[in-house]
Amino acid sequence: MKDCLFCKIARGEIPSRKAYEDDEVYAFHDIHPQAPTHVLVIPRRHVASLDDTSETDQAWLGRTMLAVRTVARELGISSGYRVVTNCGTPAGQTVFHIHFHLLGGRPLGWPPG
Ligand code: 5GP
Ligand code: ZN
Repeated sequence: MKDCLFCKIARGEIPSRKAYEDDEVYAFHDIHPQAPTHVLVIPRRHVASLDDTSETDQAWLGRTMLAVRTVARELGISSGYRVVTNCGTPAGQTVFHIHFHLLGGRPLGWPPG
């Protein structure tokens, strides 16, 4: 999508600190980290949110989630981390290209806000 921030980041048109990439997935460090490790894992395809997915999206959704696991392992936080997707404005979504926050490197409180 032409004007989407995360599409531009995945295409390399806006700089980011890369954590992982493959042909379907791109991952980069959040610009305002909420934990010592805070990475955003996104599909290269433009989909606005989890609520905009359907049964036909199983393959790339699965690939994206496995990439989260891979990034967690590569960054050395696989003993404890959290994966969050904010879906919709009331849940705190500000960028409308689906993304999974990978947070770790400190104890994480529950419930989240
Ligand atoms: P949301 O609030 O939509 O769940 O998460 C969006 C995330 O994107 C926020 O944590 C925010 O800090 C991050 N973010 C917004 N703009 C940029 C950017 O230009 N570069 C990077 N690396 N992260 C960004
Ligand atoms: Zn996009």
